[in-house]
Amino acid sequence: MADKRDYYEVLGVAKNASDDDLKRAYRKLAKKYHPDMNPGNAEAAEKFKEASEAYSVLSDPQKRSQYDQYGFSAFEGGAGGFGGFDFSGDMGDIFGDLFGDLFGGGRRSSRSASNGPMRGANVRTSVSITFEEAVFGCEKQIELNLREPCPTCGGSGAKPGTTPETCGKCRGTGRIFSTQQSIFGMMKTETACPDCKGRGKIIKERCTECKGSGSITKKTKLSVEIPAGIDSGMSVRIRDKGEPGSNGGPRGDLLVEVRVARHPQFERDDTNLYSVQPISFTRAALGGKIRIKTIDGEVEYEVKAGTQTDTRIRLRGKGVPSVHHRGVRGDHYVTLVVQVPTKLNREQKKALQAYAKACGEEK
Ligand SMILES: [Zn+2]
Ligand SMILES: [Zn+2]
Repeated sequence: MADKRDYYEVLGVAKNASDDDLKRAYRKLAKKYHPDMNPGNAEAAEKFKEASEAYSVLSDPQKRSQYDQYGFSAFEGGAGGFGGFDFSGDMGDIFGDLFGDLFGGGRRSSRSASNGPMRGANVRTSVSITFEEAVFGCEKQIELNLREPCPTCGGSGAKPGTTPETCGKCRGTGRIFSTQQSIFGMMKTETACPDCKGRGKIIKERCTECKGSGSITKKTKLSVEIPAGIDSGMSVRIRDKGEPGSNGGPRGDLLVEVRVARHPQFERDDTNLYSVQPISFTRAALGGKIRIKTIDGEVEYEVKAGTQTDTRIRLRGKGVPSVHHRGVRGDHYVTLVVQVPTKLNREQKKALQAYAKACGEEK
């Protein structure tokens, strides 16, 4: 994505633009280029994506300051690097599945240069982790089949000693142009050359190791650094571990989608945790110390005398670390549920009868 346009330039705003300026600029562009307003217009779709991406970054104060400081590299971590994940699981409100689309698959933006260097497609895989691993972060070993450039032919696909020939049908451009009538007038369309499959070159004698494809499949072990606070559906991006590029283009990326197991006690909503804690009716009435299970282990908590069932208490900073904002951690909300005993021994029964009598309940 070396040819990406500056986000401020995309939105046509100054570096010191206010949030309102950004919103106004984005709204204008979104209206103009929205796919619903431009059916079948690939260029408008690209513009819409570009504007949406720019706005998603600049409208988030933290991402904006990262972008101002580091440019695009702020969002492109190295292998297993922090920040090397995309936010496709977390953009539902404004962009829907746009982001999945944006980061998914290969970025085939350079349509006109298919026989020039082409970036390889992204590869997706997934990894399952426990609830605690998601909260605190972890390192996971994964094994997958990656395409590697063929060592025998060096990726050309041609038998060693031979060289691929320029395709006669497309004259090496890899593209075939045709014009057709449409409701918008004459449309010029471009498709991959069927003879050379867009490569611009034809292999007469194929490399026997890769059968002419230029790449081989290799079982590869990778270590994936999963940042604390990651949630189900988010992906960790490992740069340059996708499909090899063609004609000297860079490799695509590997996107490792994280699947987080459920926890028997804790429910999670973004950075907050929720749980239910039973307490005895005597503790609820009299007040005193109870022990509450948190993700960090048990903590002591002093309940007030006269605590009612379904009282919700908040344990600040005992939630999930934010994956987007370092040093920020959510809270743990605990619902106290008062237990009424179902079995009483003689002594307990006597005591409760005495209590009832004291309340004037006994005849
Ligand atoms: Zn080969
Ligand atoms: Zn061709």
